[in-house]
Amino acid sequence: YTNQVSLVFPSRSANESFARSAAAAFAAQLDPTLDELGDVKTAVSEAVTNAIVHAYPDSLGKVELKLRLYPGNELELIIRDWGIGIADVEQARAPLFTTGNEERSGMGFTIMESFMDSVKVRSHPGKGTTVTMRK
Ligand code: ATP
Ligand code: MG
Repeated sequence: YTNQVSLVFPSRSANESFARSAAAAFAAQLDPTLDELGDVKTAVSEAVTNAIVHAYPDSLGKVELKLRLYPGNELELIIRDWGIGIADVEQARAPLFTTGNEERSGMGFTIMESFMDSVKVRSHPGKGTTVTMRK
């Protein structure tokens, strides 16, 4: 990659909007349209919210957001946590699947997939989750 910014923060909900804005600021060097910028912000918001809401149910934990630029103006967003992990990633990615409360609609991964060109999820129960998205 030709540029990278990494942010590490605790899983406090206040940090979701910070992460979203940081991703937009980083993506600005690509001269994106407002639509493209909106897509990046929405996808980062969903992934970071998942790390905040699901990864550490009873405590605070570390969340990392890595923003990378590749030649050819390709943007890579990596959201990582060291939380409880996901037992069945395929099931978790299915539309409407949620382990959350009535506030959650189970659409986060579906939204990430629709706004980004690719979404990869690596997760190990008890070890954590890494979501890698490209656009
Ligand atoms: P919504 O995003 O619509 O509010 P949701 O978060 O439940 O609801 P998704 O974002 O699609 O829906 O995630 C689906 C499920 O995957 C979650 O309910 C949770 O069980 C699991 N999950 C997602 N991200 C993580 C993570 N970082 N750590 C642990 N579990 C996760
Ligand atoms: Mg979600």
